[in-house]
Amino acid sequence: MYIAVDDTDSREGMCTTFLATELIKEFEDLRLLDYPRLVRLNPNVPWKTRGNGAVVLSFRRGRSSKKKIGDIDGDLRYLKGKPKMKEDAFKRAKNIIERFSHLQSSKTNPGLIVTEKRTPESLYEKAVKDIVELKDVIDVLEDDVYRYKGYGNKRGLIGASAALAWRPDDFTYEVLAYRREDMWGKSRELDEEDIRSLDRRIDGSFDSYDHEENKQAIAPNSPCPVLYGVRGEYPEELQKALDIVSGEEPDRWVTFLTNQATDDHLQEVSISKAKPWNSISVQGKVCSNPKTIEGGHVLFEIEDETGQITAAAYEPTKGFREVVKKLIVGDRIELCGGVRKDPRTLNIEKMKVLELGEKTVKIRNPECPECGKRMSSMGTDAGYRCKRCRTKADEDQAIREKVDRELSEKWYEVPVSARRHLSKPLKRME
Ligand code: ATP
Repeated sequence: MYIAVDDTDSREGMCTTFLATELIKEFEDLRLLDYPRLVRLNPNVPWKTRGNGAVVLSFRRGRSSKKKIGDIDGDLRYLKGKPKMKEDAFKRAKNIIERFSHLQSSKTNPGLIVTEKRTPESLYEKAVKDIVELKDVIDVLEDDVYRYKGYGNKRGLIGASAALAWRPDDFTYEVLAYRREDMWGKSRELDEEDIRSLDRRIDGSFDSYDHEENKQAIAPNSPCPVLYGVRGEYPEELQKALDIVSGEEPDRWVTFLTNQATDDHLQEVSISKAKPWNSISVQGKVCSNPKTIEGGHVLFEIEDETGQITAAAYEPTKGFREVVKKLIVGDRIELCGGVRKDPRTLNIEKMKVLELGEKTVKIRNPECPECGKRMSSMGTDAGYRCKRCRTKADEDQAIREKVDRELSEKWYEVPVSARRHLSKPLKRME
């Protein structure tokens, strides 16, 4: 039996993954069949609270599971008791949603689904890449195998049903540690040096510390119940974080199976097909030199045979902007990122330099083809003239020298603190 939930939090608090821990507590008479799943969906949906994540739990009747996968008032390993039916499970899950969701916020619109059957995979594909209409989701859920409830505008049903549709192909894990309730909203005291050491000490972990910006990247800044989350390839390795990170003691922790760091959101398209609120990967040629605008954002144009789009490295991408500034007209590149609607802009997440154009600087005026004497400039971009023979030469006749591009034909990515949950870090692409 699956329980899927989404959209339970608000900017003032709560987190759907924490609510999942309360569901696990409630259903301690059943056995968790699998890692709870944290499924990230389209990072560009304008109505998301933070990371656009939905949660799915799968339970089965029976005793002891083999591995320890969390700790909520005791090991999440030995689960006991009698099976319960779907209708009963729905009532119990509904109680938890109504108790913990931020229903008072108009922006919180929870969705709950209890079922024995996953939703069609196409729903995940659409929801991670594009915008899904609620009515299409309701059409799927109008089948007796799904017991569901949507609150408010019911939008949470989109995320819950899309998360149920995820069949992991590529996947990673995240250990999420939660705070005691009396700490919610207070500042998090965690040892910065311990966090800095995580990527080194935990095999397969990534994105715990932004070494470029000297900033930790595991603890959120919001008043939500999450103390920190550590991401990586191997669940048992990730659990080491609980011993490494000192400071505030977690109240509970759970390992989630996730689609984070998989690039599942990206669609390879031509530029004319770049739709707002989609995330895309495009190849093309730089057709305007990068310029820095107010606020420190760096913009340039890229084109392919179908069209042109403005690409942007926004201020939060920090040092990545210095890389982008080194591009010149004619460079062939691949860009991955989200498409903003107005103005239509590609917000770069990572960039591959495919082929560098040649950059030269003028070192001397040309020689006169008649007398061999050095010619004189007639002004900016106005060409050259020989004072003795009156011969003229165009600007491009100047003697030029190749300049080192300070870029290589390889991938570049934004720093950890500007990275999206779904973006595959270069560390996973090696
Ligand atoms: P939470 O911790 O509650 O999950 P969040 O940052 O993940 O916070 P939500 O509060 O869940 O964001 O808000 C995202 C909303 O957008 C949800 O209602 C979800 O169902 C909906 N949604 C997710 N993906 C899509 C999509 N592709 N198209 C339309 N709506 C979507």
